[in-house]
Amino acid sequence: MDYFSYKGGILHAEDASIKEIAKEVGTPFYVYSTATLRRHFDLFESALSGIDHLICYAVKAASNQAILKTLANFGAGMDVVSGGEYKRAREAGVEGRQIVFSGVGKTGAEMKLALSEGVRQFNVESEEELQVLSEIANNMNKVAPITVRVNPDVDAKTHEKIATGKAENKFGIPISRAREVYAKAASLPGIQVVGIDVHIGSQLTQLLPFEEAYKKLADLTEMLRSDGHEIKRLDLGGGLGIPYGSKDGSPPTPKEYGQMIKRVLGHLNCEIEIEPGRLLVGNAGLLVTEVIYVKKGHDREFLILDAAMNDLLRPALYEAYHDIVPVLQPSVNQKNTVYDVVGPVCETGDTFAKSRAMHICKPGELVAFRSAGAYGAAMASEYNTRPLVPEVLVNNSDYLAIRERPTLDEIIARDKIPNWL
Ligand SMILES: *Cc1c(COP(=O)(O)O)cnc(C)c1O
Repeated sequence: MDYFSYKGGILHAEDASIKEIAKEVGTPFYVYSTATLRRHFDLFESALSGIDHLICYAVKAASNQAILKTLANFGAGMDVVSGGEYKRAREAGVEGRQIVFSGVGKTGAEMKLALSEGVRQFNVESEEELQVLSEIANNMNKVAPITVRVNPDVDAKTHEKIATGKAENKFGIPISRAREVYAKAASLPGIQVVGIDVHIGSQLTQLLPFEEAYKKLADLTEMLRSDGHEIKRLDLGGGLGIPYGSKDGSPPTPKEYGQMIKRVLGHLNCEIEIEPGRLLVGNAGLLVTEVIYVKKGHDREFLILDAAMNDLLRPALYEAYHDIVPVLQPSVNQKNTVYDVVGPVCETGDTFAKSRAMHICKPGELVAFRSAGAYGAAMASEYNTRPLVPEVLVNNSDYLAIRERPTLDEIIARDKIPNWL
């Protein structure tokens, strides 16, 4: 559920008219709804009520500081995967002890940054990383709290580019080697084991793969405890999917997810961390764009938008589906047609949808991609020298461009010309 709806025939984000925002900011732009963020955060909060827990928002899903601050104000911690994300979270006012540092290729500089400003834990993904972290922490006279990310070898049943929990993926250590790796961790100076971490993929639409992974985690917890390790925290990763369109049916709810967590892991008395990204922000954001041309092709019509793959990469990268809706509600008797929906970028991959049934569009009208809040603006680029797409945050009837569109002069001035030219 979200807070984007038609009011007086015009699509609104809460009480703010998308048409008005478009007039002020220009298209394309992302728009996020605070009430929707609140709603999704609260769903997880109540799903985990009764057990000690922290919801660590996966910053990479949508990284604007205004979004981080909104979620932090609700009580979220953060899950970061780079020094840049760590700094963003800190700038947004998040304390180091609320920040979990994940990622398969942490550099020494990133470790130093997090150790000096504070970190809840590092989710370590290899023995090589463990060794480097130990040396760095030891040299700084610090102790790095860690979990080891285990790869449980389960099939997340999601798109192959966002599955992370199979043995062939680069993530984590094989769960069969966990005992050895924990023994090594316990022997290293500067390292303190606090728990175990798992994250099996993104956009999961079934509970079973999670349950399979968490059962393995429960067994491992007991085994490591019997080896003498203090396992007080379980980081269960993110990955719960959202409905992108009616064809997705209804993925499990946070409530069902929470019930399963309590059933499978409740008896261990561990503090539970989860790292949702998509479920918190996905349905809380739209990408608003203007129709430039309706172009007649050889055997089809192309709807050419002013948004492109550089603004919303998911369809090109994962064949992802997004509903596309009109900003001005069409009249009930208006006819539908079928378009290939594309952007202006010079790549055939710059296609948002093929043979999409839609209302008949006219140049100059606004349409919106729904469920674009996660992995939308965060993955945007300036490919084709298209300015980085702005973001707008709505709160009731208030709104602000939380990232403005750079001017072409600003973009071009970033290039440096060597003096031999
Ligand atoms: C990407 C990622 C997440 C968030 O995944 P969602 O599918 O957006 O919930 C959480 N944890 C880790 C380690 C990740 O890499």
